[in-house]
Amino acid sequence: MKTIIGNWKMNVGTRESVALVRGVLLALRGKKMLPEVVVCPSFMALGEVRKIIAHSHVFLGAQNVHFEDHGAFTGEISSRMLSEVGVTHVLLGHSERRNLFGETDEMVNKKLIHALAVGLVPILCVGEGQEARRPGGTEEAQKVVAGQLRGAFKGLHLRHKERILIAYEPVWAIGTGVAAKPADAVSMHVFIRSLVPDLLPGIKSSQFSILYGGSVDGANAYDFLREDEVDGLLVGGASVKLSEFTKVLQSAMDVIEARA
Ligand code: PEP
Repeated sequence: MKTIIGNWKMNVGTRESVALVRGVLLALRGKKMLPEVVVCPSFMALGEVRKIIAHSHVFLGAQNVHFEDHGAFTGEISSRMLSEVGVTHVLLGHSERRNLFGETDEMVNKKLIHALAVGLVPILCVGEGQEARRPGGTEEAQKVVAGQLRGAFKGLHLRHKERILIAYEPVWAIGTGVAAKPADAVSMHVFIRSLVPDLLPGIKSSQFSILYGGSVDGANAYDFLREDEVDGLLVGGASVKLSEFTKVLQSAMDVIEARA
């Protein structure tokens, strides 16, 4: 199984989101070997996008959520509210949330617990910053990622049917046009895969997937997806360009078909 997630960020309004998701459905139409596809429009566009993807194989994701169920939190939205409008997945701990809006591991942990409690599939984003990128920085990068995972999973006990997507997104690769080398992404995925069972005892391998994110586009998607360790991709900038995103989707279908 390969998972492709489009994070549309604050880049497209409702009208454009509707056009974009129509294009995504068209790209998948009639294809047999489909990846799991999740689109994450702005909160404003969730309702309209939901109408378009109803009865399709495309899932609806939100870009953020608050960690409380309800209350005096002006401007915030809870997991339950997202679930009510048909959201099935939610991005948590995206580096833009962490760096621009002060999201901490503790907040990510609370969001994760709440999201799972209402049946959402969390897409937990982790990744090291530029400082861990210098030669010999691999260990430092692993330390950052391990710390984020440990913080996010604190006190969490996954029930049998629950599932978590982990997106490894080196911060220096997000929106820069400089993607990680597939081999480097693979080695971080191997590290994460080895760590998760220690942090979430009893978790089965089928309950979590590890995706890569950071300057993925139509030209490099296949190189990541053909790696067994890469369960999918989280795509930002290229996901709002239909021709690019279509190429990413096609790469996933090619890899799935080659393995069938
Ligand atoms: C992201 O925002 O999660 C992301 C990966 O962005 P981009 O693809 O633009 O690097």
